[in-house]
Amino acid sequence: MLAPRVAAPVAEHMTPHDLVTYFRCPYEMELVRANHARTVTGGPGVVRTPADVVPLRQSPMFAPPMGHVVVTEGRLDLDDRDVLVYEDEGEDDLPVLFPPERVRLDPRFRNGGRTLVDRELGIAGRPDLIVQRADGSLVPVEYKETHLFVGYHEAHGRLFDTVQVVAECRLVEAAFGRRVPYGVVLYGDEAGGGLHEGWVRIPYGDAEKGWLRAALVQVRDDSVRAPVPHERNCAGCEPNAEGQCRFAAARYEGPHHRAAFAATPRA
Ligand code: SF4
Repeated sequence: MLAPRVAAPVAEHMTPHDLVTYFRCPYEMELVRANHARTVTGGPGVVRTPADVVPLRQSPMFAPPMGHVVVTEGRLDLDDRDVLVYEDEGEDDLPVLFPPERVRLDPRFRNGGRTLVDRELGIAGRPDLIVQRADGSLVPVEYKETHLFVGYHEAHGRLFDTVQVVAECRLVEAAFGRRVPYGVVLYGDEAGGGLHEGWVRIPYGDAEKGWLRAALVQVRDDSVRAPVPHERNCAGCEPNAEGQCRFAAARYEGPHHRAAFAATPRA
């Protein structure tokens, strides 16, 4: 006799931004997602963190591989044969890297279709830009207005960018069905007049792919999603601005606090 069919459980939906937030504070991720659900669906926005949760000193997510990240000062090394094939058209402040004749946006991923979806891993999101390089490979580019890492930021902030970019590499690979050798974080240093422009190249190989799969399992299996109170986390935490977290270690200082804090060289 045939066994009855049992539908596979649907994996909890995740975005690169969720992973970054979890890497900072799992409870913040829960609050942000619940707020978003309330805004979008009008539902209650469930937070799974139990009332008697014990705060943690650091997020349980293990760090992504960092051994082959390459930091370069100056302008991005674009080739004359590179073209732009994707742009998050919902973002207003992205840099213009290509002349019009080298902008060939893929029509599959424009307007309502610009969110990239990976059904296998259950993730979705939108990189800022995707560049098709001369060899046909694709490279997601995440743009930041702050300057290239120095001092404290060098050791810490790059981890968060790596989490985001590895997830975006996977999304590009899944959505376009093309090879993605690495992703880029591009620093525009708008406030500094271009003084510290630069870019970080984050490889996307077997180690990073394995890390991403394991990280998604870890986040989905975490039934606690504990708070990680720390000035660095809490002063830029938007749910904290709404008075939603009783564990906060600092007052909310505004959305730019994290970038400013992270960019301050450690004495
Ligand atoms: S205020 Fe701090 S502890 Fe509370 S959710 Fe935000 S980052 Fe986490």
